[in-house]
Amino acid sequence: MKKIAIIGAGQSGLQLGISLLDKHCEVTIVSNRSGDEILHGRVMSSQSMYDMALTFEREAGISFWDESCPPTEGVHFRIGNSDGMMIDWRARMHAPGQSVDQRIKMPRWMDEFEKRGGKLIIADADIAMLEQLANDHDLVVVSTGKGEIGQLFERDEEKSQFNTPMRTISLSYVNGMLPREDYSALNISVNPGIGEFVNFPCLTINGPADIINLESVPGGPMDIWDTVSTPAEHLALAVKFIREYFPWEAWRCENLSLTDDLGTLWGRVPPTVRKPIGTLPSGKTVLGMADVLVLNDPVTGQGSNNASKCSVIYRDAILDCMTEGDGRFDDSWKQATFDRYWDYAEWVVKFTNTHLLPPPESVLMVMGACQQIPALATTIANSFDDPKSLAPWYYEAAAAEQVIASYSTQTTSQSTAEA
Ligand SMILES: Cc1cc2nc3c(=O)[nH]c(=O)nc-3n(C[C@H](O)[C@H](O)[C@H](O)COP(=O)(O)OP(=O)(O)OC[C@H]3O[C@@H](n4cnc5c(N)ncnc54)[C@H](O)[C@@H]3O)c2cc1C
Repeated sequence: MKKIAIIGAGQSGLQLGISLLDKHCEVTIVSNRSGDEILHGRVMSSQSMYDMALTFEREAGISFWDESCPPTEGVHFRIGNSDGMMIDWRARMHAPGQSVDQRIKMPRWMDEFEKRGGKLIIADADIAMLEQLANDHDLVVVSTGKGEIGQLFERDEEKSQFNTPMRTISLSYVNGMLPREDYSALNISVNPGIGEFVNFPCLTINGPADIINLESVPGGPMDIWDTVSTPAEHLALAVKFIREYFPWEAWRCENLSLTDDLGTLWGRVPPTVRKPIGTLPSGKTVLGMADVLVLNDPVTGQGSNNASKCSVIYRDAILDCMTEGDGRFDDSWKQATFDRYWDYAEWVVKFTNTHLLPPPESVLMVMGACQQIPALATTIANSFDDPKSLAPWYYEAAAAEQVIASYSTQTTSQSTAEA
């Protein structure tokens, strides 16, 4: 029996903890908030998740909302401003996505973790507690998201592209948003130099709803969320910005109300990559996981997906070490485990960071071609499930041109065959 301690009861920590319980592991999770505090607290994320990450939850037997959560069936991507639309394409995804409010999900998973035999401690873990846990356990994993204690892990300058947040983010959980006329979708609209409108359906504490995430370019006209002091002002500002900067979405937003007074959030996320091993004053080491090590801006909605995928990679590495390795979770194992995750996550970072800057020629070519080539649009829609699938051609003009040409040929031969 291995003793594993996990700090942080979020997407990655709970998923890892639950999935290790029936695998000869004794698992302790430390959470700085109880399930009740999370349920009655503020929204934390928009947590849109796609097929691969959701499949991992299903395999762990913890996908409790497949029936009740409204699906996100496709992607609708637009670039436009008050002068008109420059890019406009849509495509269905190969399988629906889902956004279950973490206020519902995490308390339910905490219960499940305890029901399956895990030990849950409610405490704000500090360095002294990490030392204690490192003494008593074979492995300590730190999955505290954006929490302070993540500073224990050194920023990786080479892998971190930005030194500062690239957007001010504002979330509104709303009722009353009119449904799209075709299928439900991850709606992304970019207004160059101003920011992005991102919207999709969700399941929140009082039933199905919609989430609107307005991402504001720092210093731009939408970057005034610090002037808001009440939930009503927050919603009014969101609607005003939609009318002004994303008018093609305004017809859906005429009668919005907040799902609850804690259904708003604004803030800034500095995209950062950190080194995976944290060293405690005693010299003992701990392993970081998910957002602690690879923190992305939410513009492409990848963090919860990453957290799910990271937890599966870590679970497999732990089990491999126990069955095929020497059973010691030493520093070379810790580094190798993160490297397995980074092999995937680096492409998520590239995908997300690329969409925080003016798009390179390759991306503009691909997005433009999606308007004429439905199969290419489908590929891009599915890439939200697996951004690595675009590597590396999406980022290189010559390679992107070749891929577009290959899709065009397929489309032409298909139409010829159909004729
Ligand atoms: C505005 C916004 C919108 C987002 N939208 C999306 C989206 O649409 N799709 C998507 O995939 N991702 C999205 N994300 C990102 C996603 O929410 C995170 O990437 C994901 O939750 C990270 O999982 P995690 O396990 O690393 O950390 P978290 O889920 O953040 O969990 C960390 C937990 O650790 C706890 N904790 C912190 N410090 C301590 C401590 N010292 N001791 C004990 N416990 C501690 C915290 O309270 C928390 O419960 C969004 C994020 C934001 C901010």
